[in-house]
Amino acid sequence: MTFAIHGIAVARGIAIGRAVVMGSGRADVAHYFITPEQVPAEIERIRVGRNAVVDEIHRLQQTIAGMGPKEAPHELSALLDVHLMLLQDEELITGIKHWITDRLYNAEWALTTQLEVLSRQFDDMEDDYLRERKADLEQVAERILRYMKGMGSPVAQPPAAKRKTQQDLLLDESVDVPLVLVAHDLSPADMLQFKQSVFAGFVTDVGGKTSHTAIVARSLDIPAAVGARGASNLVRQDDWVIIDGDSGVMIVDPSPIILAEYGFKQRQAELERGRLNRLRHTPAVTLDGQKVELLANIELPEDANAALQAGAVGVGLFRSEFLFMGRHGDMPDEEEQYLAYKRAVEGMEGLPVTIRTLDVGADKPLDELQRDAAHLNPALGLRAIRWSLSEPEMFRTQLRAILRAAAHGRVNLLVPMIAHATEIRQTLSLIDFARAELDNRGDVYGPVQVGAMIEIPAAALSLRTFLKYFDFLSIGTNDLIQYTLAIDRSDESVAHLYDPCHPAVLRLVADTISECRRQNKAVSVCGEMAGDPQFTRLLLGLGLRSFSMHPAQILTVKQQVLRADAARLEPWAREVVDSEDPALVMGV
Ligand code: PEP
Ligand code: MG
Repeated sequence: MTFAIHGIAVARGIAIGRAVVMGSGRADVAHYFITPEQVPAEIERIRVGRNAVVDEIHRLQQTIAGMGPKEAPHELSALLDVHLMLLQDEELITGIKHWITDRLYNAEWALTTQLEVLSRQFDDMEDDYLRERKADLEQVAERILRYMKGMGSPVAQPPAAKRKTQQDLLLDESVDVPLVLVAHDLSPADMLQFKQSVFAGFVTDVGGKTSHTAIVARSLDIPAAVGARGASNLVRQDDWVIIDGDSGVMIVDPSPIILAEYGFKQRQAELERGRLNRLRHTPAVTLDGQKVELLANIELPEDANAALQAGAVGVGLFRSEFLFMGRHGDMPDEEEQYLAYKRAVEGMEGLPVTIRTLDVGADKPLDELQRDAAHLNPALGLRAIRWSLSEPEMFRTQLRAILRAAAHGRVNLLVPMIAHATEIRQTLSLIDFARAELDNRGDVYGPVQVGAMIEIPAAALSLRTFLKYFDFLSIGTNDLIQYTLAIDRSDESVAHLYDPCHPAVLRLVADTISECRRQNKAVSVCGEMAGDPQFTRLLLGLGLRSFSMHPAQILTVKQQVLRADAARLEPWAREVVDSEDPALVMGV
């Protein structure tokens, strides 16, 4: 039966494929296709992993056999029996083999997929005792996965699968139909894994439009929706689904007519992409001759390539925190960071790269440990520059790495979430300190322009101080909206109130741009607003000439720039900002 689930649109386009449903916490396993020749080796990996866990349980049983009821209560040995039984369950083994043999999933992926199938069966059980055994099954699977992680994979991960069109789909019902991921939640670090993955689109139950998960999805340029409540419960493994990333709707089990309609839309979107591609080498200049700088936001050094491909004239925001995530407390040292920043700088072939210092906390935990230890209001807590200033050794390590990378090209250093004059002074003196350390070591480093992000209303209202100390400003509208309107950007239940068009937000953005222009200081916008073509004309009218966004958005925004007359937009932009209902005046 066809039904639709509505969520929040985060990344454009249409994806049509089979669902891979993933329970929370399962996203960190690798997902890739193997070749038919690799099937026996993958099945063997599962067998070895399972046998190792069986042996472990047998050993545990022997140990507790010699203990008294106090140290080893009866329930413990009963539990181990259940775990053994689950490990030997035919349905688990047969199912895993099916995913490996018939679908060519790698072993970990096959295991988690079958786990999901069996979990649903447990959920449907009438008997409370049996239903609760689902937790045991999850524990057993977790142990096998942990064991397999230690084994390493003999199978090299192939490059991401080519996205398929509806036409391909109708012709091809074989193993490599596109797959779309349906998950409860995905952390930004999980999302990074998907840069190399096979998924053609994804949907999550939770999340807001500018949550970092959504931001990474946009950078992957695959259709996606978040906040589609209940999706991971309602969709079953292998269901056919359509993700409409433009409207945030997922259609499950679509009828042939609906499939045909979306197939048509998909082809239209591909044609549009082709047309936009012709603008790659066209300079971004408005009708009245105003030059506009279109920069890229990147998460990893390798993204520099996508930035160049999209025609970016530099990187306006390198979110360095992605180098630090999911490493279980093992921070990259100065050398590793330096090499990563250098790769990004060299990758941009002489174009400027703005490296933002670590912005962790809130919805960007470094790893699960940090997420567990989340404070009551993490977005208001020890985040970004506050975290860096509380860890001065770590911060100086990053600063030295950035300064050294600046010897290889044009580098700007950007400080996130800064609000207080004391924070500004501390940051600048730590930069001086890092330079002095490099001098003492006799290391080579380059000059950097130092800028601040304007993402807290207090910063937007203290521009005089900011412009006194910094070379440039970059407006982070994602957080500026969050903190101006007191709306958690990753909470889908208040997503309808997360409003970039609120007059207070536009006033702060407008004043920041005009004050920078008055003082002849460089200013850009690097939040999602910069990549949203609905706002291009408004930002141009407010005097903005530097936009930083996901590479995938650059050509769409360039098209808007080419069609705009900046001088004529000025009075209209003032009217929008001064109005009670800016969205109405803008017609969005
Ligand atoms: C912002 O807040 O607008 C921004 C660009 O930073 P991030 O999205 O990484 O918080
Ligand atoms: Mg921010």
